[in-house]
Amino acid sequence: DYMYVMESDSNGAFPKGDLVPFGTVPINPHSAILNYGQGLFEGMKAYRRPDGEVQLFRPEENAVRIRMGAERLLMTAPSVDQYVDAVKQVVRANLRWVPPHGKGALYIRPLLFGSGSVMGISPAPQCTLLIYTNPISNAYKGRVSALNLLIDDKIPRAFPGGTGGVKNISNYSPVFKVVKEAKEKGFSDVLFLDAVEHKYVEEVSSCNAFIVKGNVISTSPALGTILPGITRKSIIELAREIGYQAEERKFSVDELLEADEVFCTGTAVGISEVGTVTYNDKRVEFKTGKDTVTQKLYDMITGIQTGLLEDKHGWNDYIDTQ
Ligand code: PMP
Repeated sequence: DYMYVMESDSNGAFPKGDLVPFGTVPINPHSAILNYGQGLFEGMKAYRRPDGEVQLFRPEENAVRIRMGAERLLMTAPSVDQYVDAVKQVVRANLRWVPPHGKGALYIRPLLFGSGSVMGISPAPQCTLLIYTNPISNAYKGRVSALNLLIDDKIPRAFPGGTGGVKNISNYSPVFKVVKEAKEKGFSDVLFLDAVEHKYVEEVSSCNAFIVKGNVISTSPALGTILPGITRKSIIELAREIGYQAEERKFSVDELLEADEVFCTGTAVGISEVGTVTYNDKRVEFKTGKDTVTQKLYDMITGIQTGLLEDKHGWNDYIDTQ
């Protein structure tokens, strides 16, 4: 019903935002977002607990990430407190759209973009934070079936020194074509490799990738070409707590093809098991189902996010609904 809009002043400070009815926003034709794609986005979810209360998962992590992205793209960003407060306001204004416990979540999409006017190729003097929401029903029980990924070793997603490590709006459209072509061939998504050697596993277009081999769980290191996912960070911590050796390290496609299990993590997908990976026309199957490490980690993180399990880490942040 409502969205939140906060514009910076000419000094880059964010004085005050407003809840406004959801609708179109005026865009200056001279803005840096329209001309040069100067913009970031975030993705979060509000979950309903069994007792009906509503909670966010690690929102301050999103605030820190958008601030890092803003630094990279020469934008000013609201403070962590301003950001979290803005997210809470917009969730409170859309509470009736938070699905019942176990029936999905309210997806929250914050955007931060160069809204101020620029003449030459340069960053905007003013930025806008805009937050809107969307109910989604990736129901907690009926988990979608396992993903079938295609490895594309010709079109990387990110380059060393580029913006793959932040949620730059412009990271996403360059891979629309390759993902669409993969989907037309029946794949769920594309798994991207590094841009230099075309050999090391990086991530999927909207989630991080993990492999499981015996007691060792590995995911590619966040060194600027993959997005440091908040789900990824949480899964590494949870895996260690239940006795797995969880590592951030480079691993090759060949190593992935030898893994027991492969899974992906992200706010939108949660944890999704990967059933098959296809590379150079070779299709390899991985273990899926109830008796997997993936399932164990899925139950743990979903339990914390939806309020079924105790939140020992203090990851959840309540929305005051009174
Ligand atoms: N990688 C990419 C490219 C993404 O867009 C996302 C979604 N934000 C992720 C990974 C997962 O990050 P998170 O767990 O913070 O949602």
